[in-house]
Amino acid sequence: MIREIEELFKRQARAWPRLAKGVEGLARAKTRRVRIDWFDVFIRHIPHRVGSTTAPVDPESIAKRPCFLCSANLPPEEEGARFDQDFTIYCNPFPIVDRHLTIVHREHGSQRIANQFGNMLDLAAALPGYFVIYNGPECGASAPDHMHFQAGSRELLPIEKDTAGLSGVTVPNYGRNVFLLRGRDRAALIDRMDRAIDLLAETAGKRAEPLVNIAVFHERGEWVAYLFPRGKHRPRVFHTGELTVSPAAIDLCGILVAPLARDFERISGDDIAAIFREVTLPDDQFQEVAAKLESAR
Ligand SMILES: [Zn+2]
Repeated sequence: MIREIEELFKRQARAWPRLAKGVEGLARAKTRRVRIDWFDVFIRHIPHRVGSTTAPVDPESIAKRPCFLCSANLPPEEEGARFDQDFTIYCNPFPIVDRHLTIVHREHGSQRIANQFGNMLDLAAALPGYFVIYNGPECGASAPDHMHFQAGSRELLPIEKDTAGLSGVTVPNYGRNVFLLRGRDRAALIDRMDRAIDLLAETAGKRAEPLVNIAVFHERGEWVAYLFPRGKHRPRVFHTGELTVSPAAIDLCGILVAPLARDFERISGDDIAAIFREVTLPDDQFQEVAAKLESAR
């Protein structure tokens, strides 16, 4: 699979100007490291992300635009690589990280994680050196109406290093609430991930799906999954216009996207810590779910 993806990138960078421009934009992106407590976050200034960061995702706006993930609406230059029965892997023309991919379901249908953990784990296993992410429909997905994952090189991804060697279901004092689920047994891990989603749905009241961002990678036979339960979609500072940041999975994994130059210069570690705390699930609800997940191990 990896060889096929490498070749896809080469072909698409030549044939598809939009992608070539995105890759060039990423190469020019400035990255700044900030220390928060015992961990680092990379702030990455990527002007071409402004559309995604500020995308309106209310049902009315979504209904009005043509779906940019449906194969019928893709630009003629864009081609993909098939993955299993249901998914096609494309190069993301607005990359945040190296080798940024969008992995799209063949049918137009809501972004829902139910029954998709198996596909997510299989993708992670097929893409060594990558992470695979899922952004919930109300927490960062700019196409909440079409099921998709993203993936990318995890070379820079801080959370992998931050959580190396940890075996509990939580990451203590991490400035954001995240469940850490590891496993070598695919079926058992899918069960635990489903269980986490069910517990979160119960805690949050009846929703089609609890607010979540998920990241998974596979290394030496083991899957490592991060499940970020969310308290809200966008932070207060986004709505007031103070900072144009709208965290999704990659941001919560430690690469915060700042599409505007002024934000890149001025955003502080304290700002980021406050944003992470604000958008992930409040401590009391998080601890309640963590205790149940821990006892089910
Ligand atoms: Zn679609």
